[in-house]
Amino acid sequence: MAVYLKELLLGLYLLIHHDYYLERLMALGLGVPVLLFAGVFAILLVALWLTAYIRWAPVRYLFALLFFASTLFFDVYTQVTTEYLKYSTFVSLIYSGGFIDEALYQYRASILICALGALPLLFGIALAPRRRVPLPGYVLVAAPLCSLLLLTGILFVRGGEGARGLPAMYTPLAYLNLFVYESASSTVGPRETVSLPRHGQAVGSDIVLIIDESVSGNYLDINADNGVRTNLKQSPPGATIYNYGYAASIANCSADTNITLRYGGTRSDYLRINSTMPSIWQYARTAGLRTVYIDAQRTGGRLQNLMNKSERKEIDEFVQFDDTPVRDRDMAAAQKLIELLGNDTAELVYINKVGAHFPVHDKYPDDFMIYRPVLPRGQYADISDTGERDGFGGQVEDWGRYRNAYKNTLLWNVGEFFARVFAQARLDNAILIYTSDHGQDLHERGNPGLDTHCGGDPVVEEGLVPLVVIQGNGLPGLDWQRELAGNKDRSSHYNIFPTLLQLMGYDLTALQAIYGKPLSLHTEDEFTFNTRFNARLGEKANWKYIDLKEVVTPTLQGMWPVEPGSTAASGSR
Ligand SMILES: [Zn+2]
Repeated sequence: MAVYLKELLLGLYLLIHHDYYLERLMALGLGVPVLLFAGVFAILLVALWLTAYIRWAPVRYLFALLFFASTLFFDVYTQVTTEYLKYSTFVSLIYSGGFIDEALYQYRASILICALGALPLLFGIALAPRRRVPLPGYVLVAAPLCSLLLLTGILFVRGGEGARGLPAMYTPLAYLNLFVYESASSTVGPRETVSLPRHGQAVGSDIVLIIDESVSGNYLDINADNGVRTNLKQSPPGATIYNYGYAASIANCSADTNITLRYGGTRSDYLRINSTMPSIWQYARTAGLRTVYIDAQRTGGRLQNLMNKSERKEIDEFVQFDDTPVRDRDMAAAQKLIELLGNDTAELVYINKVGAHFPVHDKYPDDFMIYRPVLPRGQYADISDTGERDGFGGQVEDWGRYRNAYKNTLLWNVGEFFARVFAQARLDNAILIYTSDHGQDLHERGNPGLDTHCGGDPVVEEGLVPLVVIQGNGLPGLDWQRELAGNKDRSSHYNIFPTLLQLMGYDLTALQAIYGKPLSLHTEDEFTFNTRFNARLGEKANWKYIDLKEVVTPTLQGMWPVEPGSTAASGSR
C-alpha cells in the first residue's frame, strides 16, 4: 500500500476538488472541445505525477510548495467569491496587494479550510518516493516546467482564458508567468507633461472630487423614492446642487474606476491614456491649484487604487486618518474638507471615502441603526473593506439584513457626511463633484453569491452610481443648468475628467479631442461600464449597458425588513 501512497494522496486531492473538475466537464458537453480539454488535462496530470517522483528532494519540495501555494490561492479565491479565478481578476488582486495583511487575517477561516484540502497535494509530491520511475532525472524535473509552459502558452493565445477546469495547482502559476511577461514587455512610454492650452488666470476656487465607496445610485433618496436620506435633495445655503441622477461608472472595481478618474482614460483609449498621459494632479498644478488627496480607506501611507510613488509626489498634501476608527473616518474626511474649503487657498481635493464597502456590520453608530434587522454588530469595527465573508451566509435572510446595515451605513457615511459639510463649510468659492466608484449587487433578486461588486458578470446596479455637482453661489463656474435635463440619468464617470479640466480653464475644444465631453455639454454618453477592464493579451474590454428599466430600487415591504412602526425607513431622521 505504501508504495502507492503518492497516488493515493494525489487521488484524494482530486476527489476533494472533484466539483470544480466535473462542473467544467459537464459544461463542455460532447465534441472536439472536450477532447482537447481531456488531452491537456491528462498532460498536466501526468506531469504532476512525474513531479512527485523527482529524486532530488530539495527540487521536489520546491515544486510541492509552489503547487500547494498555487492551489491554495485558487481555492481561497473560489471559496470567498464563488467565482472562477480569471487572469484579469488575478492581476487586479496583485494590484490590490495593499490589502495583504488584512486579507490574511480576514480570510483566515477560508485559508485554513482550503489548506486542509490541499495538504494531500503537498504531501503527495513532497514525500520521498518509494518507487523509481524509469525515466532520466531531468525528464522528471522538465515535466512540470514544460506543462506549465504549455498552459501559459494556451492562456497567452487566448488572452488569459482557457484554464477553467484544468488542474488548479497550475492556474495561478501560469497567470504569474503571463503577468511577469506583461510587466517586462510593457510598451508604455514615459508619462507626458501637460500640453493642453489653458485660458485665463490661475484658478481661484476649490475644486473637489468626492469619490464614495460602493455607494449604489439606486439606494439614495436623490434617485429613488425609498432611497436613504443623503441631504443632497435641497441646496444648502450659499450653493446650488445639480443632480445628474443615475450615472454609469467606469468599471465595477474600485481600482479600475479610480485610476481612470485620476488620469482621464476614455472608453476607446483608456489603457494608453491611463499609463502615459498626465494625472489630474499635474493638470491642477499647471492651473495654479494646490493638490490634496484624502484617503479615508487606507492608513500608514499605503497607496491604493493603482497609485504609485511617482504619482504620490504630485500630491502636495496627502491625508490619511491613522488613528481614527473606520466608523468615523468619513466624518474626519468631512472635517478636513471643511478646513480646506475655509483656508483661502485654491485647491484640487480628491477624496476616497470609506463609504459602504463590505463589511457594513459596524460602519455606522448605534444612533443610525434606523433600518432593521441588521447584521450582527461588533466583529468588523476595524475593517475598512475586505473580501472575507465569515459569518455571512449569503441567504435571502442574510441579504435582507445586509441591505439594512448598508442603508444605515449610507445614512451615516453619506447623509451625515453632507449634513456636516453643508452646516460648517464655506461653499461660496468651491465646486464639488460627488460620485461613487461603482454600485453594488445587493442580491435583491435572490441571486446567489456572497460578493457585491468586482465580479466578471455583474448586474446593472454594480455600474450604477450617483453624480451630483454642488457649486458655490459666488462662482461663475460652468452653466450646469443648460444641459442638466438632457444629461440627467444619461451621463457617466467618463464625463468627470473633462469637466474638471474645463473647470481648470483648459481649452474646451482641445480637451474634448482627447478626453471627451464635459457635463456642460450634451454628453451623449454610451451609459456603459467596463466589466473587463484588464483587457490584455489580445482581449477586448467588455461594456455592459445599464438599462434603467432593469434597476431595482428599495421598497418598504417584503424583502426589505423594516422595524414595525418605524417611520425612519422613509429616510427621515
Ligand atoms: Zn470600490
